[in-house]
Amino acid sequence: MENTKELRTWLDAFGLGHPLVIAGPCSAETEEQVLRIAHELKDTDATVLRAGIWKPRTRPGNFEGVGALGLKWLQKAKQETGMLIATEVANKDHVKLAIEHDVDILWIGARTTVSPFIVQEIADALEGTDKIVLVKNPVNPDLPLWLGAIERLYAKNIKKLGVIHRGFSTYEKTRYRNNPEWQIPIELQNRFPDLPLICDPSHIAGRRDIIFDVCQTALDLNFDGLMVETHYDPDNAWSDAAQQITPKSLIQMMIDLKVRKATD
Ligand code: PEP
Ligand code: MN
Repeated sequence: MENTKELRTWLDAFGLGHPLVIAGPCSAETEEQVLRIAHELKDTDATVLRAGIWKPRTRPGNFEGVGALGLKWLQKAKQETGMLIATEVANKDHVKLAIEHDVDILWIGARTTVSPFIVQEIADALEGTDKIVLVKNPVNPDLPLWLGAIERLYAKNIKKLGVIHRGFSTYEKTRYRNNPEWQIPIELQNRFPDLPLICDPSHIAGRRDIIFDVCQTALDLNFDGLMVETHYDPDNAWSDAAQQITPKSLIQMMIDLKVRKATD
């Protein structure tokens, strides 16, 4: 990857704010839920609505997402609020459906980034589009695997790329659901300074009481954006209940966070 300057430009060109704030539920649950959260986020710092509709769960028997039906809800939320919409894609069929439904930002989840064949399939399906694609780190602390996914997309001429740091699995229990290992995204940024870096404090923390601290660390480290799981009734969310925060808490958090200015 040489001469990668264009990687940054989408972030500025979209005028999405600094830091870029992507917010919304872990999972789209119902049309009413998606629309209500979108409206509660509409006039906040969040400019992009996220919601997972295909949910790769570690163990079977949990809610695995509403599927393609949720794309219509996201589209409606976009029409009603003007927010951009983002969802996770985990295979080529997801990519095709997301493009057909005007999803603006497609992200590759941590359980997909670990699989070069699937990443390649997604990259092939994205060729020729100008979608924004964000690549979460793989579940394990493996920088080359993360870089490999980025390179597969870049090789297919996907230029609106960014990465999402969501922490890394450990067998030992730690304070975090996924250990941040900040040196890994920093190393990635040193290698590709043009790649926008977004922090997902929700999957790092796994619990809402430390989301703020994770966000502040990310901003202190000059991350470009935050992706925060947000639900009006976090305790009753159908997935990741312990880590979601309300739109009201998000507003307060954005007021309290110290954002480094470009000149600092
Ligand atoms: C998610 O964003 O809801 C998700 C499943 O995240 P990750 O791929 O980071 O586990
Ligand atoms: Mn989640």
